[in-house]
Amino acid sequence: MNADDPTTPHDLTGTHDPDRFPAGRPLLIRGATVVTMDTGPGTLPGTDVLVTDGTIAAVGPHLSAPHGTAVIEAHGALLIPGFVDTHRHMWQSALRGLGVDWTLTNYIDALGQLLPHFRPQDVYAGNHLGMVEAVADGVTTVVDWSHGCSTPAHADAAVDALMSVPGRARWAYGRIGPDLSWVTDGEVDRIRAARFSADDQLVTMQLALDLPPDLSAADAALSHAAKQALPVTTHAGVFGIVGDAAVAHLARQDALSPSTTLVHAASLSDDSYRRIADSGASLSLSAESELNAGQGYPPTGAARRFGIPLSLSMDTVVWWSGDMFSAMRSTLSAERGLVFLQAHARGEQVSSHDLRAVDVLRYATLGGAEALGLADRIGSITPGKCADLVLLRADTPSMTPVNNPVGHLVFQAGRGDIDTVVVNGRVLKHRGELIGIDLRRARRQAEASRDHLRGAVGEAAWQNLVDPPGATG
Ligand SMILES: [Zn+2]
Repeated sequence: MNADDPTTPHDLTGTHDPDRFPAGRPLLIRGATVVTMDTGPGTLPGTDVLVTDGTIAAVGPHLSAPHGTAVIEAHGALLIPGFVDTHRHMWQSALRGLGVDWTLTNYIDALGQLLPHFRPQDVYAGNHLGMVEAVADGVTTVVDWSHGCSTPAHADAAVDALMSVPGRARWAYGRIGPDLSWVTDGEVDRIRAARFSADDQLVTMQLALDLPPDLSAADAALSHAAKQALPVTTHAGVFGIVGDAAVAHLARQDALSPSTTLVHAASLSDDSYRRIADSGASLSLSAESELNAGQGYPPTGAARRFGIPLSLSMDTVVWWSGDMFSAMRSTLSAERGLVFLQAHARGEQVSSHDLRAVDVLRYATLGGAEALGLADRIGSITPGKCADLVLLRADTPSMTPVNNPVGHLVFQAGRGDIDTVVVNGRVLKHRGELIGIDLRRARRQAEASRDHLRGAVGEAAWQNLVDPPGATG
C-alpha cells in the first residue's frame, strides 16, 4: 500500500511493526466511515474511534489521543463492529471442504465414521484453527458449538484451544448422542468451576443440547442448565430429525427463554414460531447450510413475521468457509428469491424489498450479541462497549467508490478487504496480517489431524466421503 495515499489505511510509522500494538496501548482509528450499528448515531463519515483499556472510549470527529496512542489512519475506510457467529462446529475445522457435495444425510453418515477416531488433540487442532480463522475473518465472537466432546479430555482440549487465541468465544459444551447424563453427573460443573470462574473472560460457557427422540430424556439436563443459569442452544426445526414436537416440549418444560438460541428452526409450523416469539428465544440462521444440506428453507421471513430475534451462523467449515459476508448474502438472497418465487406463482409482481441490507448486517453483529446476552458489551460501536472492531481497507477495486456503506458491506465487501481486526482493544490483525497468532502452527496441527482421520477411516472410505454417490434420476 502507498502510505502517501490519504485514502489508504496506514500507520504513523509507515512500517508493519507487530510491537506497535502491545496489549493495553491506547488506539485511535482516525477518519473512517463508522458503521456503528447503534440506532442513534447510525453511520458516521470521517469519524475517529478512540480505544482505551480495551473499551471504546469515544466516537466522534477530530478526537485528541492520549500520549503514546497508536494511530491507524483510516480515511475512506469502513469501520464496523466485529461479526458474531452464533453456531459453528469448530472441532470439525480440519475436515474443511470435505463435504461440499454432502446432504445432511451424508453429513450424519460421515460423522458416524469419523467421530470415533477424534482424539482430544483433533478437537484441539480444529478449535485452534477455527479461532484463528474467526479472528482473521473479522468474526470477533464465535459460538463454538462443541458437540465433538466425547470425553472430559476432549472438552478440556476444546477449551484449551479457544483460550489459546485472544478472540472472543462462547464455548457451547455438547456431546453427540441421546445420552445426556454427562450434563447432570458433575462433568459440566467440574469444567465450569475449573475454567469459567471469572465473568470478564473472553471465552464464556453455555450448553449445546440436542433433544433425543425420547424428548423427556432431556428434562434433567434442561433443568440442570436452568438451575446453573447456563444458556442453552439446540438444533431445532431440522427436517426429518427434530420439529414441532421438540419446540412444544421445550416450551412445556419452560426451557425457552431469551437466552435460548435455536439453530436452523426451519420446517416448523406457525404454532412453533409463535411459541418461540412468546418466549423471547432467538434463531440462528445458517442460510448456506439450510440451502445446501437440507434442514429446511431459511426461516427468515417467518421469524420476521412473528418478531423473533435473529442472528447468523456458518455451522461448519466442512462445506463452506467461516465467511460472514457470505452468510449475509445467502440470507438476503434466499429470502428475496423466495418472496419472488411465491409472488410469481400467484402471478404477482414484487416491487420493493422487505428484507434490507441493514437487516442482515444487524443480524451478523448486534443480533448475535443480543442472542448471547452480550449486547451491553459488544455488537455495536458505542462508547463504553468493548472494542471489537473490523476495519475494511479503502484501496481495493471492490471498495471504490462507496456509495452506500451498509449495502457495500453486504454485497460488495469480502474477507480480502479486511485490513485490521481488534478484539477487546487488542489489535490481532493489521494490514491484512495476523499479529501474535501463529498461523503456521495452526496449519500444521490441522493437517496432522486430517492425516490421522484420513488414515483411520482408510483411503477407500475417505474417497467416498470426498465424492459421495450422486442422486440418480
Ligand atoms: Zn449445527
